Amino acid sequence: MHDYDLLVVGSANADLVIGVERRPAPGETVLGSDLAVHPGGKGGNQAVAAARLGARTALLARVGDDAHGRLLLESQREAGVDTGGVLVGGAPTGVALITVDPSGDNSIVVSPGANARLTPDDIRAAADLLAGARVVSAQLEIPLETVAEVARTRPPGARFVLNPSPPAPLPDDVLAACDPLVVNEHEARFVLGASAGPGPEDWARALLALGPQSVVITLGADGALVADGRTDAVARIPSLRVDAVDTTGAGDAFTAALAWRLSLGEDIATAAAFAVRVGAAAVTREGAQASFPTAEEVSAL
Ligand code: ADP
Repeated sequence: MHDYDLLVVGSANADLVIGVERRPAPGETVLGSDLAVHPGGKGGNQAVAAARLGARTALLARVGDDAHGRLLLESQREAGVDTGGVLVGGAPTGVALITVDPSGDNSIVVSPGANARLTPDDIRAAADLLAGARVVSAQLEIPLETVAEVARTRPPGARFVLNPSPPAPLPDDVLAACDPLVVNEHEARFVLGASAGPGPEDWARALLALGPQSVVITLGADGALVADGRTDAVARIPSLRVDAVDTTGAGDAFTAALAWRLSLGEDIATAAAFAVRVGAAAVTREGAQASFPTAEEVSAL
């Protein structure tokens, strides 16, 4: 058995950010600011967010045998994440090349790199790691077949939390494993397609009808909505009013907090109420991982 409660299976990227006066047109070269390198990727973000809150967290991911990979491992360890399950090699570390102009508009190119090489075989080889998890949290920046392998082969006692981002069509058995499926408004509309009703309560019921055991919809400044298939209850969780400066990573912080509190045995509405506070704290600071709060900061909010 391993010494953690939450296992995050997902992506780790280096975000390479350059500020520019104007984003280049095709064929054009522009000069920009000094390069800033930030650890990112939804899996890496969730693991750091949970560990910073005090969660005993492990990460199952793949990075390249290169400087970016070492940087990502270092930032995970610094946050207290167990990185024994992070595989190294097979392709360069995933990167996001980001140019940002003064108005905050950006252009992003993502090279999934090693993230795309995290395979179903890697999941099968990590059976020991999965066996120790109370909750396994996944997203879709790694191959869907790998996420499906996690959903199918996780031990019966391990609750499966999925944030389908970036959105992609999900197999029925993956949907049925979700407890909860965590979506923002955009992802909810994608999963539901033309059948999306007028409001989030309708979306929650329609999403439940697709098979998940429970559904959580995050609603930005409006907090979140929780739907539990066991009771058919749909509850609004109001947000805190905060001065939002940067919402990058808010969804990752929310999902990590939710997954951790579920691993401690909290019911989903109580866990979501905590997660809403974590998301609110995260938007009060710049950056993704840099913005994630400690438990003390969440209490102080
Ligand atoms: P995503 O980042 O995936 O688009 P949301 O924008 O719904 O997801 O944000 C996730 C969570 O972060 C929300 O449920 C809420 O708790 C918190 N949050 C996001 N934006 C704000 C905001 N402006 N004020 C307060 N909380 C926010």
